[in-house]
Amino acid sequence: MKLLLHACCGPCSLEPTRILRAAGHDLTIAYLNSNIAPAAEYVRRRDTLCAWAAGERIPVIEGTWEPEAWEAAAGRVGETALAAAGGDVLRCAMETSLREPRCRACYRLRFEEAARLAAEQGFDAVGTTLSVSPYQFTDVIREELERAAAQAGVNALFEDYRPFYDEATRRSREAGMYRQNFCGCRFSEAEAAAERAERKRLRAAAREAEAAAHAEERAAEEAARTAKKAERAAYAEKQARKRAALKALREQQRDR
Ligand code: SF4
Repeated sequence: MKLLLHACCGPCSLEPTRILRAAGHDLTIAYLNSNIAPAAEYVRRRDTLCAWAAGERIPVIEGTWEPEAWEAAAGRVGETALAAAGGDVLRCAMETSLREPRCRACYRLRFEEAARLAAEQGFDAVGTTLSVSPYQFTDVIREELERAAAQAGVNALFEDYRPFYDEATRRSREAGMYRQNFCGCRFSEAEAAAERAERKRLRAAAREAEAAAHAEERAAEEAARTAKKAERAAYAEKQARKRAALKALREQQRDR
C-alpha cells in the first residue's frame, strides 16, 4: 500500500516505519506539525527526522508551519482549559479532562492536513506515528485519524505502536538522535516543566521525611544507650555500697 505516514519527530518514526516496511508498505513521511513551538524546536525535530529518513531512503514531505492555525484550532481550547483550572498548569498536566480536548483539536488539525495531502497526491492511505507514545490519547488518535481519512476519501491505517515505545527509546538513544522532553506545543512545554518541578519537590519531601525518621530512630537509640548506662552505674553504686558495708562489718568484728 502506498502510505503517507504523518510523523511528529525522528525517534517516534523508528519503530512504526520498521513495522510498516516489514508489512510491505511503500512509505512517505509527512512532517505536518504546526503544533510545535517555538520555531527552533520545530526545525530541530524536522532536521533530526530528515537526516535519519535520508539514511533510510524514506521521502519526507514537509507542510507549512502555521502556528497561527494551530492557535486558532487547539491553542484556544488549551487556553479555555487553563482558565478553567485557574491557571494551574500542573493540574492541566495531571487531569485528562483538561488536556484531552486540546490534544483532540491538535490531532484533528494535523490529520486533516495529512489526509488532504494523501488524497491530493494519490496515496492509498494515511497513518501516524503519534500512537507510539504512551503519553498520547491513543483512542482519540484513532478516532481523529479515521475521521480525517474518511473526510478526504482515503483509507486510515491506524496501529497502536505503544508496545514498541521502549525499543524506539533505546534505538533513538543509541543513534544519538535529538530526543525532546515535551510533546510539542507551548502548553505541553509548560506542563512538562511543571511535572518535573513537582517530581523534584516530591523527591525532596520524601528525602526530608526519611531524614526525620532516621533522626528519630537515632534519638531513640541514644536514649536507650543512656538508660542502659544509668542502669549500669546504679548497679555499680549498689555493689560498691554493699562492699563498703561488708568491709565495715569485718573491721568491727576484728576490733572486738
Ligand atoms: S500536548 Fe501534544 S498533542 Fe496535545 S496539544 Fe500539545 S502538541 Fe498537541
